[in-house]
Amino acid sequence: MIQCPDKLTIQAVIDGEETDIQIIDHLQSCPRCCQIHSEMKDAFTPADNLGSTVKLPAEFLGRLNEKLSPQPFPAAMAAAVIFTLAIFSAYLTNPGYLQWWLSVGITRQISYLIDAFIDLLYISHIVGPTGVIIGLAALVALEVLILNMLRNVEGQINV
Ligand SMILES: [Zn+2]
Repeated sequence: MIQCPDKLTIQAVIDGEETDIQIIDHLQSCPRCCQIHSEMKDAFTPADNLGSTVKLPAEFLGRLNEKLSPQPFPAAMAAAVIFTLAIFSAYLTNPGYLQWWLSVGITRQISYLIDAFIDLLYISHIVGPTGVIIGLAALVALEVLILNMLRNVEGQINV
């Protein structure tokens, strides 16, 4: 007959990690070890095997995930409210400013876009179709480079 095993060994037998037949025989024959083995086995019974008849509702996991997931900040709504407040306060401050911005300001922004488009047309006439293709390829390469840099930054933040 072997010596009484320690509790870690008994736990290893319960977990199925210890398969030495002498230890298992000892656990069944020694009254003290048999009692320790029985108590530890009862204590480590998985919760699923408990005799409870109460079950979680089927939608429990979905509701739990819903509560645990972060709620998105309503950024578009906040931006719309801030923009509306800015327009309203600008109107209250001086109605002429708002009128000027609606007429001259927006027209100036659109004229910048039109000028840039016309400049691109002039440049394309100067560099020819090969130059346009090379320019677009350079822009695509720049975008890929920037996206790769951003992916690395996001990976570091999300880890
Ligand atoms: Zn024993």
